[in-house]
Amino acid sequence: MFAESSPSPSPSPAAANAAFADRLARLAVQAGLAGVDVVIIAPGADLQYFAGHSVGSHERLTALVVPAVGEPQILVPTLERPGWSGSPLEQLGVPFTTWTDGADPYQALIGLLPLTATVLAVDYHMPAVHALGIQAAQQGSELRLAGEIIGELRMRKAADEVAALADIGAAIDRVQARIGEWLRPGRTEAEVAADIAAALVEEGHTRADFVIVASGSNGASPHHEASPKVIEPGDPVVIDIGGPSPAGYYSDCTRTYQVAGDGGDPDFDKVYEIVRQAQQAGVDAVRTGATAESIDKASRSVIEEAGYGEYFITRTGHGIGLEVHEHPYMVSGNAMLLEEGMAFSVEPGIYLTGRFGVRIEDIVVVGRDGPLLMNNAAKTLITVGG
Ligand code: ZN
Ligand code: ZN
Repeated sequence: MFAESSPSPSPSPAAANAAFADRLARLAVQAGLAGVDVVIIAPGADLQYFAGHSVGSHERLTALVVPAVGEPQILVPTLERPGWSGSPLEQLGVPFTTWTDGADPYQALIGLLPLTATVLAVDYHMPAVHALGIQAAQQGSELRLAGEIIGELRMRKAADEVAALADIGAAIDRVQARIGEWLRPGRTEAEVAADIAAALVEEGHTRADFVIVASGSNGASPHHEASPKVIEPGDPVVIDIGGPSPAGYYSDCTRTYQVAGDGGDPDFDKVYEIVRQAQQAGVDAVRTGATAESIDKASRSVIEEAGYGEYFITRTGHGIGLEVHEHPYMVSGNAMLLEEGMAFSVEPGIYLTGRFGVRIEDIVVVGRDGPLLMNNAAKTLITVGG
């Protein structure tokens, strides 16, 4: 199955390191523009984005320090220092400081901050215990969230990031194309989900991050996962699946299938077609200069005009990259203008409590001339298990 995937061109180590240096420099600029003296980043997707590596235990402080003026530095626990050997940060010459169990990591961190730093911003993944510990150690400091500063950078994907999203998008398409192997009447949602999770890994994910198999009335709950419920003939089944690639970029794709046999809801075909048209309208609205909320409106108005507006109970989409949900969000009230390289889902749905649900989801990147689809699995209604 791997033979079908086309590997994205990997940048040379020097080019990759230059990209991390560029990200760090741009973060410093963003911090200055926001009036922040220093951004402090804990292990997680943000550290992966800026450092090219992220390890660290929750209770021991690991923190990348990026001042608005000055050079970045990193604090790591002594026992984890070997894991950073050969990392992009090390190759860029960013200084490492270690602290050992029994020492005060906050005092160690304060030693890395500019003397005059008073406005500190921590990333969304910084555990509260560390955020408050740092603030208490730097007397008179003000603590802010750095999520939006960081989002300004992470939202706009570079070409290699778009290639990574396309590769893992193709992998999840291959899993959706195989759903007929597993989905049939008489099996439980949990059994089908276990097979799908294995296929995610077979097709190139490092793990299955989420596997929603929501049959019949369970489909009316958007985040139903998988249960012991037996799949019945005629059931509509919402399958929303995804996980990270080896490079850390996520897939996320939903298709709604119909299981062969009598017993389905008489309105299912009609509702499916409304959602299909709403999803297409959302994708078609994607272009540079459109607002994020206009994508939501494009999908939502199709569903509202069909009389099902009150049953579309979610936003239309979320950004995606090193996290499955990140900025920007396609939601009413978000007037942000879309720019080339922004990546997000378009996933309208109709959820009829006690009956069934329909959702169709693709990942879309804003291209120079319109939408670039990261998913290309069929969107016509597919009947399986016959
Ligand atoms: Zn999804
Ligand atoms: Zn999604």
